[in-house]
Amino acid sequence: MDIIKNLIPKEKYSIKCPYSLSPIGITVHNTANSASAANEIAYMERNDKETSYHFAVDEKEIIQALPLDRNGWHAGDGATGSGNRRTIAIEICRSTSDDLNLFIQAEKNAAWLCASLCLQYGWSTKDIYTHQHWSGKNCPHKTLELGWDRFLAMVEQNMTEMSRKTEPEKKGDFEGMTAEQKKAYVKGLYVTYTGRQADPSGLNYWMDQIGDQTALIDIEKAFSNQEECRKYAVKNAYRNVMKREADSTGLKYWTDWLKKHTAAELYDQLVALKKKGNK
Ligand SMILES: [Zn+2]
Repeated sequence: MDIIKNLIPKEKYSIKCPYSLSPIGITVHNTANSASAANEIAYMERNDKETSYHFAVDEKEIIQALPLDRNGWHAGDGATGSGNRRTIAIEICRSTSDDLNLFIQAEKNAAWLCASLCLQYGWSTKDIYTHQHWSGKNCPHKTLELGWDRFLAMVEQNMTEMSRKTEPEKKGDFEGMTAEQKKAYVKGLYVTYTGRQADPSGLNYWMDQIGDQTALIDIEKAFSNQEECRKYAVKNAYRNVMKREADSTGLKYWTDWLKKHTAAELYDQLVALKKKGNK
């Protein structure tokens, strides 16, 4: 994706971005209206309010309004707060649009942007914050409603794809890792994909699967494709999107479906179903 630069005029720096910024992460917002990114940015640049952010993203474009070395006023944590003073702000547009698809697409573009910033600055998804984290405000309201972990998983997926593209021959992600590091990695897979701690035999099994020449992505794929993990993903998706527990028919159907699809695709399917009112 391209990032369109539409930076505010320097005369407005004193209002919109008075301090230099050395970012430690990203703060994600939802606009809580249905306007496009272009309109959102035009409004922000036109007015003389302090409120400002670095990017606005909608279903078709990413527009940058502030330089990444200047702070924005977006996090509600004051003049010295780390949200305002240490993070790059992204507004995801269309969060109250009647057409949920616009928002879903805008979120996908925002996940791409988060991933490329993470790679650029050497961050992980742990460095991506909600506006709520800094000041308690219910923002990004729609992203939180649909599931924050789901959004971070989308970012994670983008990061994996981007790093694969830049390093096509990359193999052997485990090369040079100590046994302790490998163990920690497998334990992490358990928590992420099953919601439980690793049992000793499972831990041993996966430690055996990891050789020096194995790519991390291959292990992660094989791990997350286990039935237990697919089931866990379906249950979470139901809770986040449908706001209820999965019934046994749905659980069985989608668990099977996930053999050939990603969790992000499952969310798309459920969101579409929910929209149709077809549960
Ligand atoms: Zn916000």
